[in-house]
Amino acid sequence: MIGILVKDNRDLAAQLANHYQLFNLSARVIESLEEQRSEIDLLVVVNAGTFGSQINQLMRKEGKRWLHVLWDRGRVLAGPVFHPTEGPCFECLSLRMKANMVEEPERPEIPECLEENVRRMMCDAVALETYKFVSKDHRAGAAHITDQMLEIDFLTLEGELHPVLRVPTCPVCGVETRIHQYVQPWMTRFSEVGS
Ligand SMILES: [Zn+2]
Repeated sequence: MIGILVKDNRDLAAQLANHYQLFNLSARVIESLEEQRSEIDLLVVVNAGTFGSQINQLMRKEGKRWLHVLWDRGRVLAGPVFHPTEGPCFECLSLRMKANMVEEPERPEIPECLEENVRRMMCDAVALETYKFVSKDHRAGAAHITDQMLEIDFLTLEGELHPVLRVPTCPVCGVETRIHQYVQPWMTRFSEVGS
């Protein structure tokens, strides 16, 4: 079962759940993180925002995977799927996004006549990627979201794949604190550890 959590936008969560059903994936909207976690195999969180760190910690504690999705005025950033026992985690992604941050002008509003269509395309793209990830249906190809962040602008139809690597110094999944006793510093620089 796929759980879908979209903060402050239940309509979008319900729409995404419908698209998952079109791909024969059973999904339902989750109102809060506390809700029926046991039956959820994969949690999809859209626009986690400031709750991202909390979700990250909780899902690692629960031993569950979660898919990170950002949706902003016609552009989607989907992936990667975070694993509870491995990196990269949400904190790694946040650290890397901050480090690479380029001042982007605010995206213009989507023309009202296109808004619903653009949203539908986003739901389909996220559902297709999730289908590939969950079903391992080789005929559909490998899922980008397994270890990358897929970016698609549904107005310009431009897309890009971003690799997401673990940050060795990540306070949540980093290896530096665990590994320093095994590393011989005169042979291995910390910046090379885990990269
Ligand atoms: Zn991390």
